[in-house]
Amino acid sequence: MRCEVVAVGTELLLGQVVDTNSAWIGEQLALAGIDSHFQVKVGDNQARIVTAIRDALARSDAVICCGGLGPTQDDITREAIAEVMGVELQRDEAVAAVIREMFATRGRVMSDNNLRQADVPEGAIVIPQTRGTAPGLICLAPPGDSHGVAGVVYAVPGVPTEMREMVRRAVIPDLQRRSGTTATILSRTLRTWGLAESTLAEVIAPRVDALEASGNPTIAFLASGIEGLKVRITAKGDDAASVRLLLDEEEAALRALLGDVVFGVDDESMEVAVAALLRHAGLTLGLAESLTGGLVGARITAVPGASEFFRGAIVSYDRAVKHDLLGVPPGPVVSEAAAGAMAVGAARVLGADVGLAVTGVAGPEEQDGQPVGTVWLGLALDGEVSATLVRLPGHRQQVRQLAAISLLDLLRRRLTARAGAR
Ligand code: ATP
Ligand code: MG
Repeated sequence: MRCEVVAVGTELLLGQVVDTNSAWIGEQLALAGIDSHFQVKVGDNQARIVTAIRDALARSDAVICCGGLGPTQDDITREAIAEVMGVELQRDEAVAAVIREMFATRGRVMSDNNLRQADVPEGAIVIPQTRGTAPGLICLAPPGDSHGVAGVVYAVPGVPTEMREMVRRAVIPDLQRRSGTTATILSRTLRTWGLAESTLAEVIAPRVDALEASGNPTIAFLASGIEGLKVRITAKGDDAASVRLLLDEEEAALRALLGDVVFGVDDESMEVAVAALLRHAGLTLGLAESLTGGLVGARITAVPGASEFFRGAIVSYDRAVKHDLLGVPPGPVVSEAAAGAMAVGAARVLGADVGLAVTGVAGPEEQDGQPVGTVWLGLALDGEVSATLVRLPGHRQQVRQLAAISLLDLLRRRLTARAGAR
């Protein structure tokens, strides 16, 4: 089974929108074991879309078209597919009813244009829409067509969230059914923080080598900006239970190599990991933030139920606030002494078991002779006070974001070690 991708939209050609849809679909096809040799971008022009689809069908068994399913005049993917199939568009009353209903519940007036989205090529299978208003399509081109094309054409919306949902739910399963592959493919992502990519690669090299022969599971790296590096395990098997077993085994092997660098799995963020540890230990947290200006508190409070363990944050930005409110001694405020005193002060003022503090130079100017990116992290817990120096790269916003996650990671490691010792 070979499947190509045709991304429709003049904005893609002009560089106004980057074609991330094709990249994502390409990845999903690879994961599903379906070969994909071409990806094409084409503007909002019916004749050229028709050519793109015909060319793709001449080379492959299936085509996924994304974009151009909306209600406006330049959304003509439906018309192009009907032309390729040699059929007319027909209004699908069930789809029209869903669209009318959607507008009614949102209390919005529907223009007639919106019903264009209910026009589908005769004989097409409709993939019901769940979020937006455009349904997807599955169309079968009969063999022996005058253009010599045969195969299946899928149409999915251009909006990335809608596209992904529909490809996952309907397109990949349909392709797999047609190709006769029944394999179940699952992946799991270990999220790490604190190692450089090259170091991470070295650490897990033994596993990568060990898996080379079997090719199942496989391991891939994904950078995710300031949120660290991800290690994704992908496994294939006959059923979900056996695939999960493979994932479990590989996760355990990788964790044994990586240790506490791993902070979460899949969608688990750093703050979710910290929240779980605080809850488990029955500890409350108080923050003193300088250069992060509340970023750490915002992350912590994003976790549902944070009120159980989070007392609050003091944004002690001004020197005087550090001294007067938190009891930081006179002297430089980007220093070991200041970070420690801020942590102790935060715990005292906020009545928390754990005091956590961050002070540093976000830039663009240096401060007290300290270069941009100099950041001290303070932690007060169990009667001990510590301060850790980190040097963070980048400009102001990046330094602030990295400082926030560094601080959370410091607490995570301390709480993990503490839990292990008890
Ligand atoms: P709508 O109902 O919103 O009109 P549609 O199916 O007609 O959906 P398009 O109009 O082609 O989709 O695209 C809608 C938006 O989705 C674009 O403005 C763009 O932001 C995004 N988009 C479209 N195609 C892609 C793509 N290939 N990669 C990334 N984003 C895309
Ligand atoms: Mg559109």
